[in-house]
Amino acid sequence: MLPPDEGDLTASGAAALADRIHRREVSAEEVTRAHLDRIEAVDERLHAFLHVAGDAALAAARQVDAELAAGEEPRSPLAGVPLALKDVFTTTDMPTTAGSKILENWMSPYDSTVTARLRAAGIPLLGKTNMDEFAMGSSTENSAYGPTRNPWDTTRVPGGSGGGSAAALASYQAPLAIGTDTGGSIRQPAAVTGTVGCKPTYGTVSRYGLIACASSLDQGGPCARTVLDTALLHEVIAGHDPRDSTSIKAPVPSVVAAARAGAVGDLTGVTIGVVRELRSDAYQPGVIATFDAAVKTLTDLGATVKEVSCPVFTDALSAYYLILPSEVSSNLARFDAMRYGLRVGDDGTHSAEEVMAMTRAAGFGPEVKRRIMIGTYALSAGYYDAYYGQALKVRTLVARDFDAAYESVDVLISPTTPSTAFALGEKVDDPMAMYLYDLCTLPTNLAGHPALSVPAGHAPEDGMPVGLQIMAPAMADDRLYRVAAAFEVARGAAETVGAVTGSGVQ
Ligand code: GLN
Repeated sequence: MLPPDEGDLTASGAAALADRIHRREVSAEEVTRAHLDRIEAVDERLHAFLHVAGDAALAAARQVDAELAAGEEPRSPLAGVPLALKDVFTTTDMPTTAGSKILENWMSPYDSTVTARLRAAGIPLLGKTNMDEFAMGSSTENSAYGPTRNPWDTTRVPGGSGGGSAAALASYQAPLAIGTDTGGSIRQPAAVTGTVGCKPTYGTVSRYGLIACASSLDQGGPCARTVLDTALLHEVIAGHDPRDSTSIKAPVPSVVAAARAGAVGDLTGVTIGVVRELRSDAYQPGVIATFDAAVKTLTDLGATVKEVSCPVFTDALSAYYLILPSEVSSNLARFDAMRYGLRVGDDGTHSAEEVMAMTRAAGFGPEVKRRIMIGTYALSAGYYDAYYGQALKVRTLVARDFDAAYESVDVLISPTTPSTAFALGEKVDDPMAMYLYDLCTLPTNLAGHPALSVPAGHAPEDGMPVGLQIMAPAMADDRLYRVAAAFEVARGAAETVGAVTGSGVQ
C-alpha cells in the first residue's frame, strides 16, 4: 500500500497537525475529513476499522474549530487531531464489540474513562478498530469480523490483538490510535507495522470501561507514528481515576518532556541492558541483525550498553498462559446471555441455563473457548496450587529478575518480536506458535512495568518492519520516551514511516 502524497494532510504526524490546527492554518474539520477520505479509499483492502463514525467525528472537529475561532485556548495539545479507538473501549455513540459475535451491535450505556478523556481533549473519534476477540491473539485473525491486513504487505498479518489500530496508523488512516496491552497487543502490532506503541505502567491508564481480558495485566496505551505523538497522547489518557480500583494515585511521568529531551539525540549517562534471554539465535536473522544495529546506534548516541541476564523470563510464557486464561475464565463469565448482547434459544422451550450455554457456544470463537477451558481447569480445586498458584510464584520471580536488572541499568532492550509479520493463515491452526510470538513482550506485563516499541528498521530478507522494545521500571515511563526519541532521531524519522520497500508496494 502506497503512503499518501507528501502534501496530503494525512501524511502529517499528530504534533504537526495540532500545530497547524491551533494556528488556524487548517481546520480540524479538514483534517478529519482528509482521514475519513483516506479510510474510504484504502480500508476496504485492510479492514482496520470495524466501525467508522464520520458524522460524529466531523461534528467533534467542528466544535474544536468553533472554540478556536472564538479565541479559546486549545482544549489539549492534540485538540482537533483525529484518532482510531480499539473496539474494546466502551463508547455511547458507537457499538463496542471487542471483536466478538457475542457483543455484535452492543451499545454501551457509558463511555470508558479513556473515551471520555479523548472527547474532553477535543480529539475526534474516527471509529473503532479491529482486534482479536476479547484481545486474545497475536494476529487479529481471531476477530469474529474477519482479519486486518498489514499495510506493508497485505498477505501478512498486522500483529495482534490491536492489529486494527496499528494498521490504521501505518496506512495513514489515522495519526493517533489507542490500543490495549495484556501480553504485547500494543507493542507487537506496532513493531510489525513500523509504528510506535507504548504500554504504560500498570495502573496509570484507567481500565474503567475497558472490556476486561485479564484484569491484572490489561493496560490501555497510546499508539502513533512518532515517539512525540505517542507521548502527547500518553499524557491525554493517563492519570488517576477513582473509578478504577487499581488506578495509581500519583502524577503521570512527564513523557512529553522526556520525548523532547531525547530528541536532542544524546544518551550520555544512560545505561541500557540487553536481555540475554530475549535475543535468541532462533529468531529471524534479519530481526537480530536490525536489533544489533540498533544497539550500535544507541552506543553511538552515548549510552552505555551491556548484557544482562533475566533467567526466569524463559518461564514467563508458561506462567502468562496460566494466569491470563484463569482471569479470562472469570471475567468472561459475565457474558451469560442475560446482561449483554447475543441471546440464542430464547424461544420459551429452553431453560435459562440452556440459553446461556447455547449463547456462549455460538457467541465465542475457538480461541476464547480454549482459554476459558484452560483457565477453568487451572483454577479448579485440586489443580489450583499446581497450576495457577505455581504461575503466580513464577510471576513474582519474573518481577525479581527485572528488579535485579534495574539495579545496574536504566532501561532494558530486546527485539519486540522474534520475527517480522507472518503470513495470514500461517499460525491460525497452531496456538502454541501464536503464543510464542509474544515471548519478548509479556514479561513486562507480568511485572506491571512500562515498555514501548519503536521502529528499528527493516529486515533485509523480507523488507518488513522490525521493532526495538524498550522496557523500564514501574513509573519510569519517561525513560522509554527519552531513549526512543533519541533513537528515532538517530535513525531518521523520515525513513521510519512511509518508507516504501520492495515488498511494501502492492
Ligand atoms: N497475544 C497475547 C495473547 O494472546 C497478548 C494479548 C494482549 O496483549 N491483549 O494473550
